[in-house]
Amino acid sequence: MIIDGKRVSARSTFSVINPATGAAFADVAAGDISHLEAAVAAARNAFPTWSATGDTERQRLLHAIGDALQANMPALMELVTRETGKPLKGLAGVGAGMEVGGAIAWTHATADLTLPVEIIQDNEEARIEVHRKPLGVVGSIPPWNWPLLIAIWHVIPALRAGNTVVIKPSALTPVATARFVALANEILPPGVLNIITTRSDSGVGPAMAKHPGIDKMVFTGSTATGRKIMQDAAGNLKRLTLELGGNDAGIVLPDVDPKAIAPKLFSVTFHNSGQTCACLKRLYVHESIYESLCDELARLAQEAVVGDGLKPETQLGPVQNKAQLAYVQELAEDARAHGARILSGGHARDGDGYFFEPTVVADVTDGVRLVDEEQFGPILPVIKYSDIDDAIRRANASPNGLGGSIWSNDTKKAAELAMRLECGTAWVNEHGAIQPNAPFGGIKQSGIGVEFGQHGLEEYTSIQTLKIMKSPPDA
Ligand code: NAD
Repeated sequence: MIIDGKRVSARSTFSVINPATGAAFADVAAGDISHLEAAVAAARNAFPTWSATGDTERQRLLHAIGDALQANMPALMELVTRETGKPLKGLAGVGAGMEVGGAIAWTHATADLTLPVEIIQDNEEARIEVHRKPLGVVGSIPPWNWPLLIAIWHVIPALRAGNTVVIKPSALTPVATARFVALANEILPPGVLNIITTRSDSGVGPAMAKHPGIDKMVFTGSTATGRKIMQDAAGNLKRLTLELGGNDAGIVLPDVDPKAIAPKLFSVTFHNSGQTCACLKRLYVHESIYESLCDELARLAQEAVVGDGLKPETQLGPVQNKAQLAYVQELAEDARAHGARILSGGHARDGDGYFFEPTVVADVTDGVRLVDEEQFGPILPVIKYSDIDDAIRRANASPNGLGGSIWSNDTKKAAELAMRLECGTAWVNEHGAIQPNAPFGGIKQSGIGVEFGQHGLEEYTSIQTLKIMKSPPDA
C-alpha cells in the first residue's frame, strides 16, 4: 500500500491467483479500516496544496505519469496478464497490451483537458462566470476485468481536476494498480494518490462509501454493488459516478453478409473472454440469415486459441475467477435445460485454471437467464427475430442500458434505429469501441454519470457561479 507517499505494510497478506493456473502468484498487504483512516487523512491533508497547484504543473505531472507507464509497459502487461488472465495480445488485439497502451493514452489525453471559465453574461449590469472547482477527496473502487485501465479512468481525471484520491482495487486484481500507484508516487506530492489493498470481506469498500471525509465515489462494477454504494454514500450526499453492469444487445439487419460480418461480431463479443462491461452480450439476428450467421460464429468459436495469456498465440484467456466460471457454467446449463442448441463449447475445460470453451448458443430467447442476465463470460446467446420493431423492443426490455449496436450496410437506416436503443452509447457496425474524448456511461441501471473527455472531467468538479455587479455598492 502507499499512504501519504510512504510504503505501508499490514499485519497479514493475501494471495492473488493467476486464473490461467489457479495458483497464487503474488502476496499483497491485507489493509484494514485503520489504513483507510490514514489514507483519507493524508488525502485531505494534501488537498489544499494540490487543488491550488497551477494547471500547467498538474498537467506536467500527469504527463510524467503517462511517460512512467510507457517506460514500464512490458512489466505492467505481464502483471495484468498474470492477475486477470487476459492475453498479452489477445483476440483482435484486445489484451494486456491494449490495457496498458490504453492507460497511457488516456493519461495523456486527460492531462491535456482544461476546465475553462464559462461567461454566461457580461454587460453593464453584471458579469456572471461559471467556475469548475475540485470536490475534495475522491474514493475509487474499480473491478477486476480491466483493473489498471479502469483505475486510470478514475484517478487521472480526479487528479487533473484538482482532487486527491484514495483507491481500493479489487482483491482479485490489485497488483498492476499497486505498481501504477507506486510509479505515480515517485512523481506526485505525498498524499495526493493513496492505495489500500484489502481482502474483499475487510469492510473497507463499504467504509469508503460511508466515509464523511470522502466527497465523491467513483465506482465501476456490478449493479448490485453500485446500489449498495449509493445507499452508503447518502450520509454526506457524496457525488457519485457509477459505471455498472451491461447486457448490451446487438441487432443484425438482413442486408449483411454473415460470413463477412462474423469475425467482427465474434471479437466484440468474446474479447477478454466476454468480461468487458460493453461486450456485445445478446445478439438479435434476422431470421433470413440466422442459421448462416450462427454457423460462422460457432466456427470462429471452435477455431479460437484458448490458453495461458502469457503465450503469444493465445487469443482468449480464462475466466478471471472461480465464482465467475461457476456462474457462466450455470447459465449454460440453464439454457440447455430450456432447449437451447449449444453450437460450440458449452463446458469448462478439465485441468488447471478457470477456462470455459467459447460458447455460441442458438434457439434461445428472452426469458431465459442467459439472455436476461449479464453473463460476463465467453458465452453468447443468438436470438432470432423477424420484425425489427420487435427486435428493438426486446433489446430495450432490459433494466440495463450501457451500450447497443445495429449492424447493416445501410448506415443511415442503422443510425436511425441505433437512436431508438435505450443505452448510453449506441454503435453502428461497431460495439464497445471507446475513446478518451467521447463520453461513455450507462443509463437505467447501468449507472449514473459518464467518464472520458470534457463531460467526464466535469464529473470531478462542482460548479461555482460568480456574479459580479458592475455598479459599486454605494453608487
Ligand atoms: P463487483 O461489484 O463485485 O466488485 C467491484 C468492486 O467493488 C471490487 O473492488 C469489490 O471489492 C468492491 N465491493 C464489493 N462490495 C462492495 C461494497 N458493498 N461497497 C463497496 N465496495 C464493494 O464487480 P466485479 O465483479 O468486480 O466487476 C464486474 C462487473 O463490473 C460487471 O457487472 C461489469 O459489467 C461491470 N463493469 C462495468 C463497467 C462500466 O464501465 N459500466 C466497466 C467494467 C465492469
